[in-house]
Amino acid sequence: MNSEARGAANWPVIGHEWAVEFLQRALAQGRNRHAYLISGSPSLGKMRLALAFAQALNCEADLVTQRPCLACRSCLAIGRGHDPDLIVAAGEAGAPLKIDAIRDVARLLALKPYSARYRIAILDDFHLVAPQAQDALLKTLEEPPGHAILLLLAASAERALPTIRSRAQQLPLRPAPPELIKRHLIAEGCDDERADLLARLSGGRVGWALSAAADDTLLQFRAEMLDTLARVVAGRRLARLKESEKLSRRAGKDKALLRGVLEIWQTYWRDVLLQCYESPVTACNSDRRAEIRALAAGLEPPAALSAVAATGRALRTLDTNANLRLALDALFLDYPGLD
Ligand SMILES: [Zn+2]
Repeated sequence: MNSEARGAANWPVIGHEWAVEFLQRALAQGRNRHAYLISGSPSLGKMRLALAFAQALNCEADLVTQRPCLACRSCLAIGRGHDPDLIVAAGEAGAPLKIDAIRDVARLLALKPYSARYRIAILDDFHLVAPQAQDALLKTLEEPPGHAILLLLAASAERALPTIRSRAQQLPLRPAPPELIKRHLIAEGCDDERADLLARLSGGRVGWALSAAADDTLLQFRAEMLDTLARVVAGRRLARLKESEKLSRRAGKDKALLRGVLEIWQTYWRDVLLQCYESPVTACNSDRRAEIRALAAGLEPPAALSAVAATGRALRTLDTNANLRLALDALFLDYPGLD
């Protein structure tokens, strides 16, 4: 990563300056906590921040202000994802980590580091972990071994048990400004128009913008899902239920896929709503302006508003055990139509 694209304090992080500064200060003063709860919506950069912090914690540079140096053995090993003192645990295919996996993490954290200062465990998607499984971490949190650092990543801090929240330093991440993301994408070689579109679509999710810049399939997928939405809006009841069935089959139990789809539709409906009010704000979906105008022309603002609300409800349903197919059916029947 070039130096312009590096975030605050030269950490390989885009945005989240306050969190980087907070962690760096703690490092410099030798006041690290043993547990951190990094929260924020998916693709916001939680994992990137956690990995950069892991590098800073175990970096071999002499001066603490130079950590992470990104060049020493430890920084490189973490960067490559092969470090014996770093445990990254995540459920498979969007499923939550099970209690056995959590116990394994606790056991591995208790062992002395192989070669680094700290043993660090990163637990991804902690908001999905069942309370009993979260409980398996309590002993580690109550009597942490001096060398152990636990980094919990969660879409929302509220999904962590209060006993865990109270023992962890909370770092709630916010979306990065689109301008910052755009500058970064251009620095990485993206052309101006594409960088602008991706930065708008990202909603401040740096991880999403970087993935979309590197991999065209994300934008292709978005185009497909916007086409699905167009068919739903144009279709009557039966056609809508067919689209719901098709998408449910494709998603299977993959809640992350459905979350991505709903987020695409939410930004789209917001654009339609803004257009209904003839707002001067530029649409997120700036490549679909003509379509958004046409749809807004056929809708009353309350219909667009209720589509935004229905999409938000469906997104919240994903955090429950509700039947996804039924939730999609309900959403598609709630969406306004063009008569
Ligand atoms: Zn280093």
